[in-house]
Amino acid sequence: MTSEPEQQSGPVGEPDGFGRLWTPHRIAYIQGENKPTGPGSGDGCPFCEAPKHSDEESLIVARGTSVFAIMNLYPYNGGHMMVMPYRHVADYTELDDAETAELALFTKKAMTALRKASGAHGFNLGMNQGSAAGAGIAAHLHQHVVPRWGGDTNFMPVVGHTKVLPQLLADTRKMLADVWPESA
Ligand SMILES: [Zn+2]
Repeated sequence: MTSEPEQQSGPVGEPDGFGRLWTPHRIAYIQGENKPTGPGSGDGCPFCEAPKHSDEESLIVARGTSVFAIMNLYPYNGGHMMVMPYRHVADYTELDDAETAELALFTKKAMTALRKASGAHGFNLGMNQGSAAGAGIAAHLHQHVVPRWGGDTNFMPVVGHTKVLPQLLADTRKMLADVWPESA
């Protein structure tokens, strides 16, 4: 464990339990947030890089055999997860049967976890296929699981507590990992 400054940034208020979770220099996924330099898996794809590190470092909620669930660094809403294959494929039709089945299973588990952790009222699920359709990282497909609430008042208690997003993501990841279901 390397040492780090007590105060990570400006006026975030008094130290608390969540603060201990926030070790941004160790979050590999965030360090790798730069866009890939090309379409290949060796071109700096953050979704290929993430599983090589610990769940905490990469904000991974759960790992399956062929897919995993990870927090979105640029959430549309609190608890926004993505489910994706380990394999670097761009198009949904490229998934094999096992990946297709587990992607669907993990989507269901993500919904269950979000309902347990947050009482989500609804969800937006979906994949943007190709940059023309709005995919930020088009070369590595990912299914968005976005929880919604009536009026979208946000459940995450830390939202009102601090605006420091990495801390929020680290804490949200743990909340969801703790309630990740064995079966959907
Ligand atoms: Zn990739």
